[in-house]
Amino acid sequence: MSTNADAAIFGPAFKETPYWWDAAPPTKPEPRTPPARVDVAIVGAGITGLNAALELARAGRSVVALDASDLGHGASTRNSGYVGRTLKHSFSDLVREHGVPYAIAAYREMQAAFDAVAERVRTEQIDCGFKVSGRLILTKARRQYDELEQEWSLRKRHLGGEFTMLSRKAVRDEIASDLYCGGALIPDLAAIHPGLYHRGLLDRARAAGAELIGGARVERIVRLDGGGFDLRTPQGTTRARDVLVATNGYTDGLLPWLQRRLIPFDAYMIATEPLRPALMNRLLPTDRTYIDHVFDVVSIRRSPDGTRILFLWRTGTRQTGARAKGAQLLRDLVRIVPEVAGLKLSHSWTGRCALTRDLWPHVATHDGIHFAGGYCFAGVPMGTYLGQKAAHRILGSSEGKTIFGDRSFPSVPLLPTNPWLARQVMTWHRWRDRWAGR
Ligand SMILES: Cc1cc2nc3c(=O)[nH]c(=O)nc-3n(C[C@H](O)[C@H](O)[C@H](O)COP(=O)(O)OP(=O)(O)OC[C@H]3O[C@@H](n4cnc5c(N)ncnc54)[C@H](O)[C@@H]3O)c2cc1C
Repeated sequence: MSTNADAAIFGPAFKETPYWWDAAPPTKPEPRTPPARVDVAIVGAGITGLNAALELARAGRSVVALDASDLGHGASTRNSGYVGRTLKHSFSDLVREHGVPYAIAAYREMQAAFDAVAERVRTEQIDCGFKVSGRLILTKARRQYDELEQEWSLRKRHLGGEFTMLSRKAVRDEIASDLYCGGALIPDLAAIHPGLYHRGLLDRARAAGAELIGGARVERIVRLDGGGFDLRTPQGTTRARDVLVATNGYTDGLLPWLQRRLIPFDAYMIATEPLRPALMNRLLPTDRTYIDHVFDVVSIRRSPDGTRILFLWRTGTRQTGARAKGAQLLRDLVRIVPEVAGLKLSHSWTGRCALTRDLWPHVATHDGIHFAGGYCFAGVPMGTYLGQKAAHRILGSSEGKTIFGDRSFPSVPLLPTNPWLARQVMTWHRWRDRWAGR
């Protein structure tokens, strides 16, 4: 039953589904029997699975991607659409721990991951609003500001690239918030409409010959004595020479080895109803993406058509339902941008990502089964990149080499039996964020 309080928060057309699905709803599965034999079977049809499928199909392999749900059900169509070079290990930390050449190698690959999205969108002509309009990283405390400046100066010295440190006043011109004492503007980062990006990948992979089947949960993978694998789904079994598991935050008990290594956590987003152009120009006058300089990031952006504010926070907190979480996020957004008060929500939704214990993304092969994931918030570029790398590893090509491949992949003790762990991890990081932002 809706109350007056609800009416003040939720617009009349409020939806508990991602804003992105208005333009690109997930494809409902048709009941289909998976093919009896393929060269490569992919489990999961998100950004990772589809990038791999496209690469493999173009290389002449027969490919099926099997997804447990609708095609486009996963995080790939639920995210903020930020395309960055984000690694949870700063350049400065890598220099300190592994030396300059290693840090350079890692961050060159972060650039390659960013470029992989730009290149995919360009060469496949995917109309997903890919736009390089820069990112503003916001800081609340002087020490965060100084740390950010040191980090980006070091990157600039070793990798090139531009950035500008912004004063409190300059930040105020970018976002109508008095919370921030400054920030770093990185001009060459981008944003997309993730629903349309996924839809484009789906169309191109299918056109290249890959079979994409939704509603087909892979319940078991059986290794065959003579080589290859059987993938069992309720609709039938597919025999494949190679298997790639691309299930990231939605990883279930299919491969216990993998389940012990991925910490799944829920992320939450809201979209406001359209703003009057004059108000939007006052609150967020540009198409930049905004995040704050902490682990549990707040992200704020305009919708690609420039009419709504999209907001993400409270990652890893307990599921309380789309309405309760949406109302909480709206209050958070008002604390950051007070003039948002009075706006209503059109959408509130959630999606699942995965952290790893070492905070590195991984592409790996275990018992002959390939895997890519564990992107720690950065799966738009990393899923694109490592999906392609995984495909090249399957093809046996040297293009599959990457710093994210075959590094040790530590497990997390008791993970599958402790669903609280993700929340505990994020609570710890939130506490540290608060401390740093004093
Ligand atoms: C709210 C939110 C905001 C985010 N913002 C950003 C951002 O701005 N920028 C960024 O870079 N990253 C962001 N991310 C992370 C990014 O979206 C993910 O890392 C990325 O989409 C992962 O893609 P994927 O293809 O590996 O997995 P997913 O897209 O999650 O797909 C996995 C698929 O596996 C399927 N599956 C699971 N088990 C089985 C099984 N047994 N059989 C068959 N299928 C199975 C699921 O149904 C699912 O469709 C965000 C994530 C969320 C949730």
